[in-house]
Amino acid sequence: MEYSIGIDIGGTKIAAGIISREGSVLIKKVFSTPQETKNSIIQLLENIIFSLTETARTEEKKLVGIGIGTAGQIDFEKGKVLSGTANIRDWNNVALRDILSKKTDLPIYIENDVNVLALAEQQLGAGRNVENLICLALGTGVGGGVITGGELLRGAWGGGAELGHITVNMNGPLCNCGFQGCVEVYSSGTGIARMMREELDAYRDSEGNNDLLYYQKHPKEVTSRLVFELNNAGNEVAVKVVETAINALSYAIVSMIHTFNPSMIILGGGVLHEGEWFIQKVRERIGILGIRSLVDPVEIKSAQLGDDAGLIGAAIQPWVYGIDVDVTN
Ligand SMILES: [Zn+2]
Repeated sequence: MEYSIGIDIGGTKIAAGIISREGSVLIKKVFSTPQETKNSIIQLLENIIFSLTETARTEEKKLVGIGIGTAGQIDFEKGKVLSGTANIRDWNNVALRDILSKKTDLPIYIENDVNVLALAEQQLGAGRNVENLICLALGTGVGGGVITGGELLRGAWGGGAELGHITVNMNGPLCNCGFQGCVEVYSSGTGIARMMREELDAYRDSEGNNDLLYYQKHPKEVTSRLVFELNNAGNEVAVKVVETAINALSYAIVSMIHTFNPSMIILGGGVLHEGEWFIQKVRERIGILGIRSLVDPVEIKSAQLGDDAGLIGAAIQPWVYGIDVDVTN
């Protein structure tokens, strides 16, 4: 059997492992993302590649390549990080493949982190054999990956499919991208917690709900998970916030459907830990929005590959792009 080294670079942690074509994770290691300079990240990546290559050698596992997924705009052809994200310090303008190629003979593929998530779901998860799909990751932000005609959509310089920054309200709150009313400010975990804090600020009933009075005094304890707990317990303010999050997401999804004509939307990320009812609500909402012939046939599914999806998606790149091998043996 053949394996590859997968590396998933996020704002807080870097996950790396040895993974098979079918997505089995043989070995996985997690590191904190260095916050000093780009060189500290590169140094860590070199160490990871060296150590995993050695492990594969001693365990007699054949490696076919290295696949990296990272936040930011990526020039896939050149293997370069053009501009990173506010979440990873100094992660701009890095000729990553050229740098890492000096330390290994294995072919290296570098792709945007949500693109590899979409790739993982299309190759091994909810979207198997689906040629036109959109994958959305609802976490700290809202990330998007688009597969159209079987190919990832990257745009002119790797910045395509920034679906979290589709605006659903041109008079809405400022997003950290500089735009206003992006779906990310309503439907990300961060957005849901922010809306709840704003509702609590405005809550004026001193005889009112004990939970709300408590969290009004302790706004730092408000997380999206808490909002969902309160929602599930029927708390009116939390119910309103969750409805806004679902509504914003549904409007954005309908715009995506109008633009890309996908047959499937896959929803993943921390917010989706809530489960099937959340997806059912989105299905109901989009059922009354938009162009019927485009929207009605679209399947809305939850991501299947779980927390390792980014790592697996990064790792399968050598097979998807680089080498034509029979993986059934
Ligand atoms: Zn934005």
